[in-house]
Amino acid sequence: MFVYADNAATTRVSRTALDAMMPFLTEQYGNPSSLYGLGRNAAEAIDRARKTVADCLHANPREIIFTSGGSEADNQALRSAALIGARKGKRHLISTQFEHHAILHTLKKLEQEGFEVTLLAPHSDGIIYAEDVEKALREDTCLVSVMFANNEIGTVQPVKEIGALCRERGILFHTDAVQAAGHMPIDVEDMQIDMLSLSGHKFHAPKGVGALYVRKGIYLESLIEGGGQERGKRAGTENVAGIAALAAALKESCLHMEEDAKKTAAMRDRLIEGLSRIPHSCINGSLAHHVPGTVNLCFEGVDGVALLMLLDREGICASSGSACNSGSADPSHVLLSIGVPYEVAHGSLRLSVGEYNTMEEIDYLLEVIPRAVAAVRDMSPVWAELLSGKRRHLI
Ligand SMILES: *Cc1c(COP(=O)(O)O)cnc(C)c1O
Repeated sequence: MFVYADNAATTRVSRTALDAMMPFLTEQYGNPSSLYGLGRNAAEAIDRARKTVADCLHANPREIIFTSGGSEADNQALRSAALIGARKGKRHLISTQFEHHAILHTLKKLEQEGFEVTLLAPHSDGIIYAEDVEKALREDTCLVSVMFANNEIGTVQPVKEIGALCRERGILFHTDAVQAAGHMPIDVEDMQIDMLSLSGHKFHAPKGVGALYVRKGIYLESLIEGGGQERGKRAGTENVAGIAALAAALKESCLHMEEDAKKTAAMRDRLIEGLSRIPHSCINGSLAHHVPGTVNLCFEGVDGVALLMLLDREGICASSGSACNSGSADPSHVLLSIGVPYEVAHGSLRLSVGEYNTMEEIDYLLEVIPRAVAAVRDMSPVWAELLSGKRRHLI
C-alpha cells in the first residue's frame, strides 16, 4: 500500500485546480500585459482569481497580491512592515520561536540590518496567548507576526485576540496562514489582520504560487523590481496558470471546508487513539486548538530519521517535522520551543492527513507504525539503556 500522510509539506494538485490552469498552459497563453484579446483573456483570468481569493478571505480584490509562494509573501510582509516602522523610528519586531523559516530567517536578516526582534516562546501546549504578545509590546514596536497554525504541530493561535490587541495600539499584525488557508475559516476583517500569507500547494494548487493580503492603505515594498505587474508591487510576468489554479483550489477548499475538516479530523483522531498506545510516546501540542489533519508525536528511544526510512520502505510518506529540516541532524526548533527535551525531540513523527486519505490507509498506518517504532527501538542503544534502567524515561 502507498499512503501519502505528509499534506502539511505539500498536497496533490486537485482535478479542479488542474482544469482551471489547463487553458493557460495551452490555447490561452497570452501575456496578461499584452493589449490584444489573447493577453486580455489572461489578464481577466487574474482579475477573477483575485476576486475569488479576496472573497475567501473576506478581503477586497485590491488587497491581494500574487507571489511565488508562502515564503515570498512572508518575506514581503515583514520587509514592508519593517520599512514602515523604520520611517517612524520604530525598529522593534515581535514574532515567535516556532515560526516557519521564511519568517525566522527574514527576521534574522532584519536584525543584522539594525532592527530589534523579540521571539516569543510558545507555551508547552503550542500556543502563543494574546497576553504574551501584550507583555512584549514596546513604544517602538512596529510589527507583530504570529502564525495562524503551526506547520509541525498543528496548533492554532488566537489570531483574533492578537489582531484586536494590535489594532487597538496601531501596530501592524501579520499572520503566516499557509497551514490554515483552505483548511480553516479566515476572515481578515473580523480577525483584524493587516497582512496574511498563503500558499497554493498546501491546498491542492501547484507549487510556486501564493498570495499576500495587505489591508488597504498599508504600504507594500516590492522585493522584485521590473514591470508594473501586481500594481508595481511584484514585477515579473504573472504565473497565470498557477494563479488560476490557486483561486480554483482555494474556492473549492473553502466550499467543502466543513465536511473535509470532519472527515480529516476523524482520521487524525483514529491515528491518535491507535498511536498513543505505543509505550513512552507523547503527542506534541494541545489538540484543543488545532488544524484538522496534523498530528505530531514523539517516541522515546527512536531516531526520527531512521523511523521515516523504515516507513518509506513500507510505502508511507511522513515527516519528522518540517520538510525544510529533513536531513539535518538537529531536532525541530518547533518541538524545542514548546519544551520537548532534546533527546525526545529526536524521535518525532509528523503525520498530516487530508481529505484524499481513506480510513483504510489509516488502518495501514496503525498496522505499520507501531511495528516500525519497535524495530527502530530494537536497534537503538538509547532504548537499551532506557530498558536496563541506566537512563531515565522522560516520557
Ligand atoms: C509551507 C509553508 C511556508 C512556505 O510556503 P512555500 O509556498 O513553500 O514557500 C511558509 N509557512 C508555513 C507555515 C508553511 O507551512
